[in-house]
Amino acid sequence: MIYRADHARYDAMQYRHSGRSGLKLPVISLGLWQNFGGTRDYPGAMEILGAAFDAGITHFDLANNYGPPPGSSEELFGQVLARDFRPYRDELIVSTKAGYHMWPGPYGEFGSRKYLLASLDQSLTRLGLDYVDIFYSHRYDPNTPLEETMGALAHAVRSGKALYVGISSYPEQETREAYRILAEMGVATTIHQPSYSILNRWIEDDGTIDACAELGIGVIAFSPLAQGVLSGKYSQGTGEGTRGADPKGSLRASHVEPRVLAAVDKLSEIARSRGQTMVQLALSWVLRRKEVTSALIGVRTLEQLRDNLGVLNNLELAPEEVAAIDVAAEG
Ligand code: NDP
Repeated sequence: MIYRADHARYDAMQYRHSGRSGLKLPVISLGLWQNFGGTRDYPGAMEILGAAFDAGITHFDLANNYGPPPGSSEELFGQVLARDFRPYRDELIVSTKAGYHMWPGPYGEFGSRKYLLASLDQSLTRLGLDYVDIFYSHRYDPNTPLEETMGALAHAVRSGKALYVGISSYPEQETREAYRILAEMGVATTIHQPSYSILNRWIEDDGTIDACAELGIGVIAFSPLAQGVLSGKYSQGTGEGTRGADPKGSLRASHVEPRVLAAVDKLSEIARSRGQTMVQLALSWVLRRKEVTSALIGVRTLEQLRDNLGVLNNLELAPEEVAAIDVAAEG
């Protein structure tokens, strides 16, 4: 059956400008890092992606290496764009990135012009698109001049292959430098994609979030649920099929050590007192900062998506609640 988007898709979602740009993003965006790779069948993926768009999630985040295997998330989303999302291309913000290992040899990762622009072409082919809405440098590369990496991003914009550009996981000083270099080339740094959650506050600690606010760069926070730890589910053990169940996966034992689980238990009590689920509290916490344009979630199931979207019913946090969260997060 052909997907038809819900007529009411823009009724409940909220949108925020990405920094001082004209680009608005939904406060909840959906990433395709781990849950939409080669093992996900098309109907299963479409059920979640269609429900997301029906709920006003206009932004889908990808990277060259998402899968597994690398490239398969873009291929899957390319099929979705060709079939079910085809009439909605102008309602969608599709992003991709290059920075991590993608192909063998010296030109398959990091920040060279050679790698970034070849990778962008490969991503466009997999996605079946002429352009992406946002193209990111996925990580800062200390061994490539920033002028070269930013020059590649600027070229992506000038050649029409990306409408906006961003940086991901760049520390504060490198964020300022990237902004300055791009500005000299007449290109805006529209967005920064760092990790950020109640349990991971490095962008506050090193001043990256303040730099973004000052420079007018939007912030889209990845892993706002700390890869699922902030759902509270790991207090009951590691359930089958969860990220924590994969010993070689991205969720390490240190992410679910007893101190962390004790903190999440305390945070769950605060969530209950607000009539929210734990994930909803975690998302409202990230979005309490107006510099944060969007919380970039990942979901494995439709139920998780619906749970997370429930945050829209209660986004406001009182200063006393923020203070109580700070105490609980200490464990
Ligand atoms: P989250 O912190 O949202 O973690 C997602 C995981 O949390 C899900 O796979 C699921 O885990 C669990 N989860 C989600 N909702 C619920 C729920 N309601 N109840 C219980 N468990 C839940 O984000 P991700 O770490 O997935 O990252 C999100 C996106 O951010 C990525 O898809 C990608 O686009 C981007 N990203 C960017 C990076 C970068 O370097 N720029 C790095 C990492 C991510 P489970 O599968 O175990 O059930």
